[in-house]
Amino acid sequence: MLFRQLFDPESSTYTYLIADTDTKEAILVDPVLEQVERDRKLLQELGLTLRYCLETHIHADHITGTDKLRAATGCLGVVPEHAHASCADLYIQDGEILQVGEVIVKAIATPGHTDSHNAYLVNHDRVLTGDALFIRGCGRTDFQSGDAGILYDSVTQRLFTLPYDTLVYPGHDYRGHTVSTIWEEKHWNPRFVGRTRDNFIEFMANLNLPDPKKMMEAVPANEMCGSLTVLT
Ligand code: FE
Repeated sequence: MLFRQLFDPESSTYTYLIADTDTKEAILVDPVLEQVERDRKLLQELGLTLRYCLETHIHADHITGTDKLRAATGCLGVVPEHAHASCADLYIQDGEILQVGEVIVKAIATPGHTDSHNAYLVNHDRVLTGDALFIRGCGRTDFQSGDAGILYDSVTQRLFTLPYDTLVYPGHDYRGHTVSTIWEEKHWNPRFVGRTRDNFIEFMANLNLPDPKKMMEAVPANEMCGSLTVLT
């Protein structure tokens, strides 16, 4: 398997390139519109055919590159079941598998940051946690139908129950972290360690974060898979 972590500095978003080295088929998870040329160049240099653009959720902080990549490559746009994105080609539900060659990507429903959100377990040993779980943090729950109690359940019951050596690759990082493990996060993530569900809900309700800069344009655009026509 080929596995690459790519970074967009403006939105601090990680995009993941996953491919089978024999069939040369690839998946891009959470591509960013401004990084589409970077991603296309890398696909071309590595001789890869893009099969799927896969979203962990409908983002509020950046516009997805899916529509542009789909137009350029003919790949399919895949979003979690119940996501508000009628533009998608496929909807993937809890436990469902997306496969390229020998590479298996299994959806784990992890709502809470948004009401439809999937983490993706890749070849059994690493999990893309999207905005459900960050390294020593987690996604916010104060808009887009977010729900702190549901996020607490998703993280503690769905993610922290994975094998301890499972690698954790988040959807964002703001402090320079790149990868962690389930063991590390279960023992050292300050959002969860020592907190009851009620305590977590109270903590998340008092974060008082400003809205993401791009929220007003990003959410409607992402509901169209990143199509720019919605912006004009
Ligand atoms: Fe998000």
